[in-house]
Amino acid sequence: MTSLNAAEIDALDRAHLWHPYSSLTAPPPAYLVRRARGCLLELDDGRTLIDGMASWWCAIHGYNHPTLNAAISEQLSAMAHVMFGGITHEPAARLAAQLVALTPAPLDKVFLSDSGSVSVEVAIKMALQYWQSQGQPQKRRLLALRGGYHGDTFAAMSVCDPVTGMHHLFAGALAEQLFAPPPTAGFDAPWDPAWLNDIGHQLATHADELAAVILEPIVQGAGGMRFYPPAFLRAVRELCDQHGVLLIADEIATGFGRTGKLFACEWAGISPDILCLGKALTGGYLTLAATLCTTQVAEGICSGSAGVFMHGPTFMGNPLACAVANASIELLLASPWQARIAAIEAQLREELAPCGDFPGVAEVRVLGAIGVVEMKQPVDLATLQAELVARGVWLRPFGRLVYLMPPYVISGEELARITTALGEILAHY
Ligand SMILES: *Cc1c(COP(=O)(O)O)cnc(C)c1O
Repeated sequence: MTSLNAAEIDALDRAHLWHPYSSLTAPPPAYLVRRARGCLLELDDGRTLIDGMASWWCAIHGYNHPTLNAAISEQLSAMAHVMFGGITHEPAARLAAQLVALTPAPLDKVFLSDSGSVSVEVAIKMALQYWQSQGQPQKRRLLALRGGYHGDTFAAMSVCDPVTGMHHLFAGALAEQLFAPPPTAGFDAPWDPAWLNDIGHQLATHADELAAVILEPIVQGAGGMRFYPPAFLRAVRELCDQHGVLLIADEIATGFGRTGKLFACEWAGISPDILCLGKALTGGYLTLAATLCTTQVAEGICSGSAGVFMHGPTFMGNPLACAVANASIELLLASPWQARIAAIEAQLREELAPCGDFPGVAEVRVLGAIGVVEMKQPVDLATLQAELVARGVWLRPFGRLVYLMPPYVISGEELARITTALGEILAHY
């Protein structure tokens, strides 16, 4: 195989490739990465960028990690893939056991799928099949939080924020769901009973048609990078129980330590009926997601008219992905992850605080290994990114949000280079 030079790759990319949420007629620049190691992305032209995105929440251990590389190589020499229908294997069995052990207590059944969005589809199907089995097939709507993001497939899109999501583009093709606002106060806000007015009313009036509430616990990611107080999550859990509605927690972004707890539900001490995991599950190596549910939900589904859960992806339980997920989880648990995330949080609080005084900045907020600088106006992605790249930093802002979620292994020095670059650039916005 001969390798292509940068110009050849760029030409092929521009001619043929879609990138996330991008145009093929007016494509924004795509930086050519040749290698990645630790927290560094190495560009074709020899420059290195410090990665503040962990490749969208995933690469929590950094890139090219010897332990994760070894786990994949070892599994590869046994088998890369084998169908999961009628066959099982050790990587999947071990992963299920690890996930059940780590997640809140009553979640003990695991469905493996290919990506976060698919795990949300699976969660929604579980909720609907559960209520069918209980003789309540009319319970098939979802209630979601405004400002939420749950993925790009159709059922997942239907529960994304109706304004910042894609509802206007696909109106008529999307299921019409219910939406309630989360508290606009931040993570630390004192309890306010008014938070429950809207969601409490909707649950009370629509309980007979609602299958589940779906939400991102504590941190709303791509829908606006907002944090809300644990007490609200606790209250929603209670409301769901009171009104006979399941709770689906989408921890695809928050899972595996990002907020400072292993799972964000732990902030509220609650357990959902159904839990979605993805992103950091494999340490950013391969695409894999998991939907966990309680025995009650699982037994309900299997006692229904179908007798089975009706989903089965081709690449379900892919052994390579499961093997690297197992290695990633073991690596995380063996690491001082709480101390690392606390150190990142403290440094982000200190070093991003001055941004709060810039005229273009609306708010700075930090939780765990997540730092957000919310601007007053949308930023021009290509311009801001070019300025960051010129300073050796990789971030991908969207809309009014400039945010960081670095690998947990980032050094204080590397993180300071990111916050310094941001400070220099955002002072002029
Ligand atoms: C990224 C994300 C998804 C979708 O996951 P994909 O792997 O991109 O399909 C769903 N929910 C949340 C909270 C996410 O952050």
